[in-house]
Amino acid sequence: MLQIHDKTFEIYLRNDEIQAKVAEIARALNEAYDGKDTIFIAVLNGAFMFASDLMKHISLSCEITFVKVSSYQGMNSTGRVDEVIGLTTDIRGKHVVIIEDIVDTGITMDKIHTLLAVEHPASVKIASLLFKPDAFKGKNKPDFIGFSIPDAFVVGYGLDYNEHGRNTQHIYQLTGSSH
Ligand code: 5GP
Repeated sequence: MLQIHDKTFEIYLRNDEIQAKVAEIARALNEAYDGKDTIFIAVLNGAFMFASDLMKHISLSCEITFVKVSSYQGMNSTGRVDEVIGLTTDIRGKHVVIIEDIVDTGITMDKIHTLLAVEHPASVKIASLLFKPDAFKGKNKPDFIGFSIPDAFVVGYGLDYNEHGRNTQHIYQLTGSSH
């Protein structure tokens, strides 16, 4: 059990399950981007742990950089992306892999995708540890998915509840959520 602010969470995905999946995603990426000029763009803050673990298994010659967006407050997506901050690297002609912690409605990813596309990359694909297919209404479905999960709020392993709870090795779900 995990208590954050007013909410109680129970374990949903153990770290060993997460690690096995992360290694599997890395294998798929190593295969798909072999010989390509690749740049990984991790979306802060939530994806920091996933990106760190994932990159340890990436054997490609590649770049990694980090961007930040603001779109989410509390437990409901506001459906806004104010801006993508921090992209100082030239991505023209490069194969971009966006590293996300979770794709929920897909609104954030659509906006990031649109903002990156104007920089003329060779391609843009998305690797997301978590995906909520029942909540998704976007155009850009993740190409590499760790776990498809129900439309319930999760925290941990980088994901927060009002900025707390990012520093756990497991992923937790609100108690009483069905899965
Ligand atoms: P979307 O735009 O796909 O609806 O939401 C994207 C952002 O909302 C994610 O990057 C993440 O920050 C946040 N988010 C969506 N679902 C959850 C969730 O279950 N838990 C947490 N902690 N954040 C979430």
